[in-house]
Amino acid sequence: MSDYQGKVAIITGSTRGIGYQIALNLAELGAKVVVSSRNAEDCQRIQQEFESKGLTSLGIAADVSSMEDCKALCNTVIETFGKVDILVNNAGITKDNLMMRMKEDQWDDIMNINLKSVFNMSQALLRNFLKLQGGRIINITSIVGQIGNAGQANYAASKAGIIGFTKSLAREIGSRGITVNAVAPGYIATDMTDTITEDSKEKLFKQIPLGRIGEPQDVANLVAFLGSEEAGYITGQVLNVDGGLVMQG
Ligand code: NDP
Repeated sequence: MSDYQGKVAIITGSTRGIGYQIALNLAELGAKVVVSSRNAEDCQRIQQEFESKGLTSLGIAADVSSMEDCKALCNTVIETFGKVDILVNNAGITKDNLMMRMKEDQWDDIMNINLKSVFNMSQALLRNFLKLQGGRIINITSIVGQIGNAGQANYAASKAGIIGFTKSLAREIGSRGITVNAVAPGYIATDMTDTITEDSKEKLFKQIPLGRIGEPQDVANLVAFLGSEEAGYITGQVLNVDGGLVMQG
């Protein structure tokens, strides 16, 4: 795989978990990476950590559910680095509840943070990508957006929405050399899945053909490929990183 020298990547929700690993990977491959989350101290801490490893990084706080924050983030990055080659829409949360009990704000928060964020960031960078006549947009969806999950109707709808968005935008801007793909992780060991009980994990292992819960690195490996020059003829796809849990025809 060719290196990322000269490339600029923004990874939303990259102060921990999957986003952090994606950012670290791309930085180690030579990209200038923008680390972002709602917490300014965390962004600064990760920037300093990366810089101490000799990597190029910029930490900027932004709430991706806010179009204003997204525009400000993208403008600062373009002022600093001149362009953005790769956008990874990774930030996401869960607010699980059974439908009978789901509150309106649990629905709205998930839609705004998981789905509207993808619109916000993609639109804020569209002019940049059109000017480049190239670039990569990689959206982190979930197997839950493909197969559903009881207690996660809000989360599943937001992640299924990302898949529809990905395919539509891929068709819209493909002729400009810009690729848009989605990555669907299965169960990955992060803070988000930390609350799963040992009993449930045991049951889960049995359903996963590869017999283990995934690591952030498993997802970061695929993102690094999709962001590379070699992935230039792949667009509008949903690629699963789930140990074989979901196999679609
Ligand atoms: P984590 O909870 O470990 O990390 C989430 C990151 O997103 C943090 O950096 C968090 O920082 C940031 N974030 C949350 N809300 C916002 C916001 N409004 N604006 C900006 N940043 C925000 O999650 P994971 O690493 O597990 O998940 C990453 C992505 O992968 C999510 O989209 C998730 O849905 C998806 N995914 C995860 C799976 C898993 O098993 N872990 C499976 C399938 C998909 P802060 O809160 O400080 O803002």
